[in-house]
Amino acid sequence: MTGCIFCRIARHEAPANVLYEDEQIIAFRDRAPKAPVHLLVVPKKHICNLAGLESQDQSLIAHIMMKLPQIARLSGLDDGFRTVTNTGPGGRQEVYHLHFHILGGGKLPAM
Ligand code: AMP
Repeated sequence: MTGCIFCRIARHEAPANVLYEDEQIIAFRDRAPKAPVHLLVVPKKHICNLAGLESQDQSLIAHIMMKLPQIARLSGLDDGFRTVTNTGPGGRQEVYHLHFHILGGGKLPAM
């Protein structure tokens, strides 16, 4: 989508510290980390958030879920990590392109 920063990163038109990429997803470091390790895992397809998913996105979502632990391990999170997805104004979503935060590398506050 024109003007979407995560679409631009996925197309390598905007800079990012990329850790992992395949045909369907890209993972890069958050520019304002909220934990010692803070990654964003983003589908290359523009989907606004979880509420914007359609039935044809099922295999893409399964792919993301299966890749999250692998991407976390790539960044050294061997003993676990937190995954967060903000949806809509009620979830304080800032970037309206679906993404999964991976957080870890320190003692996270309990939820
Ligand atoms: P949210 O939409 O609330 O789940 O959060 C969006 C996240 O994207 C925030 O943690 C931002 O720091 C991060 N972010 C926004 N723009 C960029 C960018 N160009 N590169 C890396 N991270 C970004």
